[in-house]
Amino acid sequence: MSHGGTIRLTNVRIIDGTGGAPVDNGEVVATNGRLTYVGPQREDAAEVTPVRTVDGGGRTVLPGFFDTHVHATTAVEENARDVVSDAGSYATLKTARRLRRTLDAGITTIRDLGGLDHGMQRALDDGLITGPRARIAVQVISPTGGHADLTLPNGKVMPLMNVPSLCVADTDEDVLITVRTLIRSGADVIKVCTTGGVSSPTDQPDDLGITEHQIALIRAELERHSRPRQIAAHAQGTAGILAAIRGGVDSVEHGYEIDDEGIELMLDKGTFLVPTLSAALRVPDPALVPPYLYEKKVRWSEIARENLARAIQAGVEVALGTDAGVCPHAQNLLELAHMVDLGMSPSDAIVAGTANAARLLGLAGELGTLEAGKIADLVAVSVDPLTDIATLADPDAIELVVKEGVVVKDLTATKTGMATTRRTA
Ligand SMILES: [Zn+2]
Repeated sequence: MSHGGTIRLTNVRIIDGTGGAPVDNGEVVATNGRLTYVGPQREDAAEVTPVRTVDGGGRTVLPGFFDTHVHATTAVEENARDVVSDAGSYATLKTARRLRRTLDAGITTIRDLGGLDHGMQRALDDGLITGPRARIAVQVISPTGGHADLTLPNGKVMPLMNVPSLCVADTDEDVLITVRTLIRSGADVIKVCTTGGVSSPTDQPDDLGITEHQIALIRAELERHSRPRQIAAHAQGTAGILAAIRGGVDSVEHGYEIDDEGIELMLDKGTFLVPTLSAALRVPDPALVPPYLYEKKVRWSEIARENLARAIQAGVEVALGTDAGVCPHAQNLLELAHMVDLGMSPSDAIVAGTANAARLLGLAGELGTLEAGKIADLVAVSVDPLTDIATLADPDAIELVVKEGVVVKDLTATKTGMATTRRTA
């Protein structure tokens, strides 16, 4: 992908991802994929010789968003028959299309927490396919019979995901060998399950999985390597959430049954919560899922709503993550409205989806806010996200997407309503 040249965006309102007040009448300039100017519009910007100028028409520009919890290889609407009958190549092409749709929905960076492999990550980096940049866990680790073990009581493996196998590890030694294998396979983040889950067939969200001691072992193992990697814990019941935080994970994924002790510990250690409300609050059609799954979803979505609202209001660090794959892809920014419903301000929800998410992924020096020097990932919208955040859930509301200085989606020519109003006003 070419990042050459300069693109200049004028007549925009800037929400820079830091949580500060918006800048009206702003200007954003990117050269060779990097932001070189973000601030008030300059009347005389003689040094700027853009190859492309876009009149923002008064639109609001925000940083490209993150979704820190997706499964790009999985789709909630696909049944077991699709998964079994798809050729591997066909499944890969469907994943590529989901990645493109995710980018079009305003997500320029994803963290795939199980499923996406090194080849797809590289295809994205090289521009062989168009989509968000990806940080990957490759696979998910749990004990036998835990959340990563999709073996049914009859010994057959449930075809839930388009991945070759998941990582089952029981002893400390198993865990270490698995982590080393995942690092060899290109993992940027280690995903462990400290509890069971809603979608797995033979365990419960409050069953325990990978232990506090094993997480500490993984942490020590990661420190043997010069490149920093994170640990993300799938953790739903209270005891497993506490084990994850005490063991030293970077993020608690889901966190549905978090209690006051867990909230205190997270505040103390700066642990991130990735509440995956898009999945948590979504109760599926009982006709389309197995009875065990429907019953678990109904019970656990109520638990999640109550406890996650308390954690959010207590000021725990939150990064946006949806669990797309378990809920629909390309509606990632619906998560912003869910966070606001549970008590977060729209501005804080935007920070959760930009600066905070970049921090969780160790990318805050490069991404997450609109500042000169950072990688030029941004989106532009006609609505005011601070008063109408729910609108961002519609991919059509995301009118412009720029990734590394390259325009990858542009509806501004076809949707000129707001531009015209502003210009004549
Ligand atoms: Zn997940």
